[in-house]
Amino acid sequence: MSEPSQPHAANPRLDDYWMPFTANRQFKANPRLLESAEGMYYRSVDGRQILDGCAGLWCCNAGHGRREISEAVARQVATLDYAPSFQMGHPLPFALAERLAAIAPPGLNKLFFTNSGSESADTALKIALAYQRAIGQGTRTRLIGRELGYHGVGFGGLSVGGMLGNRRAFSANLLPGVDHLPHTLDIERNAFSRGLPAFGAEQADALERLVALHGAENIAAVMVEPMSGSAGVILPPVGYLQRLREITRRHGILLIFDEVITGFGRVGEAFASQRWGVVPDILTSAKGLTNGAVPMGAVFVHQYIFDAFMQGPDGIELFHGYTYSGHPLACAAALAALDIYQKEELFQRAVALEDYWCAALLGLRDLPHVVDIRCVGLVGAVQLAADPAGAGRRGQRVFEQCFRDGALVRCTGDTLALSPPLIIEREQIDRLLEILAGALRQLA
Ligand code: PMP
Repeated sequence: MSEPSQPHAANPRLDDYWMPFTANRQFKANPRLLESAEGMYYRSVDGRQILDGCAGLWCCNAGHGRREISEAVARQVATLDYAPSFQMGHPLPFALAERLAAIAPPGLNKLFFTNSGSESADTALKIALAYQRAIGQGTRTRLIGRELGYHGVGFGGLSVGGMLGNRRAFSANLLPGVDHLPHTLDIERNAFSRGLPAFGAEQADALERLVALHGAENIAAVMVEPMSGSAGVILPPVGYLQRLREITRRHGILLIFDEVITGFGRVGEAFASQRWGVVPDILTSAKGLTNGAVPMGAVFVHQYIFDAFMQGPDGIELFHGYTYSGHPLACAAALAALDIYQKEELFQRAVALEDYWCAALLGLRDLPHVVDIRCVGLVGAVQLAADPAGAGRRGQRVFEQCFRDGALVRCTGDTLALSPPLIIEREQIDRLLEILAGALRQLA
C-alpha cells in the first residue's frame, strides 16, 4: 500500500483533537491509528495489517480503496466542487434520488439528502411532525422511540433514542413528549437464535398502551431501527415489525425505520424493510450510501407524505435543509457506490454467505463468558456476561486484543459486534473469527 499522502500528518501529537465517543486519555496512552486501507484490510501506522470486521463503522460495505469511488469523487471536485443547495441545484442529487427510489421499498420514492445518520434521524422526525400539521393533525406532536435505540446524537435522535449512557448528561434538555417502547433483547428465551428470534413480537403491543394513555390524536410517529445495531445487533422477533406496522397504521401514526446500519445490503436486501417485508412511511439511511467515502445521509419519504406538503400555498414547502444537502462529491461517491453494489451483487452476497457466517459465529458459543450470539445477513454479535468488576471491561479487552492480533471488531458494552464488508471471503470469515476466538479464550 502507498505512503500516506500527507507526510506532515503521519506523526501528529495527540493533544489537540477531541475524539468522539472515545476515552481520550486512554487512547492517548494506547493509540490505534490507521493509515491506509484496501479491500478487506486496514493498515495501521505501525505497519500492521488489520482485517476489517466492521466495514469501518458499519459503512464500507464494498470494502476499502474502491477506485471507482475515488475516481468519481476526484472528477467531481475538479468539475463542480460545490453548488448552493437552496433554491438552486445541480443534476447529481436528482440522478441519485432516481437511482435510490428504484431500489427503495415501494412508495418510498422521495429523497431528502443530509450529511449523516444523525441528520437523517432529525430530518425524518421533523418531516413527520410537519406532515401531521400539514394534514390538519397538529395535535400529533408526541414521538415514540424504543429502549436501546440509537438514532444518532442530534437532539431529536437522542431524545427518541434509548441508550442511557448517551442521554444521561443531557437528560434535562431532551425533547418533551417522548416515550419509549421496550426493547426486544430477551436472552432467556432467545439465546443463540439464528436469524430472527422466535419470541417477543408481543413487545410491540406496548404501543397500544401508549395510545391508550396519550390518545392516538396526540402521537405523530414511532421511530425504530428494524435491527438495533449500536446497542449490539438486536434482531426483531418474528412478527414484531409487522405488528408495529399494523398498530401504527390503524392509529394514523407514522412509522419511521432507521436503516442507517441495515441499509445497503447489510441484512441481504437493499433495506431490512424488504428483507422483513414491512414498509415504513419514512426510512433513514447514511453510512453505506457512499460506502463511507464521503459523509452523506438520505431520508426516503413516502410519496403520499410528499404530496401532502405540495398541497400548501406556493413557496418553500419545508423549512429544513443543509448547506451540504446533495453535495456534489457525496452524490458522486454514492452513485459510484451504487454501481459497485449492483454490478458485484453485493446485497445478494450477504444472503449467499449468511449460512456460512452464522454457522461460523455460532461456533463460538462455548467460549468463556459467551451468553448469546446473534446473526443475520453479514452482521452478528457475540454477547459476553459482564465482569462483576465492571460492565464493559470484557468487551473492551476483547476489542483491544483483536486489534493487537490483526482484526477490527466493535465492542458496545460487553457485546462484540461484527459487520464486515460484503466482499468478505470465507477464509477471511474464518480468520476473523479465529482472532476473535483467540481473544475470547484469553478472558478465561
Ligand atoms: N442511526 C443509526 C441506526 C446508527 O447506527 C447511527 C450511527 N451508528 C446513526 C443513526 C448516526 O449516524 P451518524 O454517526 O452518521 O450521525
